[in-house]
Amino acid sequence: MNTIVNTSNYPTREVKKIVRRALGYVGVDVRRVTVQHFVKRTWAGERTWMGGWYQPGGAIVAKIVKPEYKPHDYVPYSRKRGTCPRFELRDWREQLVALVAHEAYHHRQWLRSEPYVEADADLAAYRAVGYWREDES
Ligand SMILES: [Zn+2]
Repeated sequence: MNTIVNTSNYPTREVKKIVRRALGYVGVDVRRVTVQHFVKRTWAGERTWMGGWYQPGGAIVAKIVKPEYKPHDYVPYSRKRGTCPRFELRDWREQLVALVAHEAYHHRQWLRSEPYVEADADLAAYRAVGYWREDES
């Protein structure tokens, strides 16, 4: 069981469904997921990005775009293992799936006392978005 806290402008019911689906794709449950918007003010105006954060023990923060923005592509941290490409995120739902899957994968690494390998967490995000598209089509 987990607690899902939604402070974004998206409907909580839908946010919770997406978060649980993403956790299912990774095959791990976490203690708490907080979903909020990522907004940054720059010289060029308001910019939106995405940000994920994992706290050892099982808390995730997923920061997603506000409703009026389209998300940027998912850019993997590291190409060392070479398998996760940069890929498009079509909407906030896919962005949320990718973020939660990435951070949930870190929880799996933590549970197994494995190092936090970013390339593997990125791959988990990539796979999760693929499953999501298949399930939604
Ligand atoms: Zn990471």
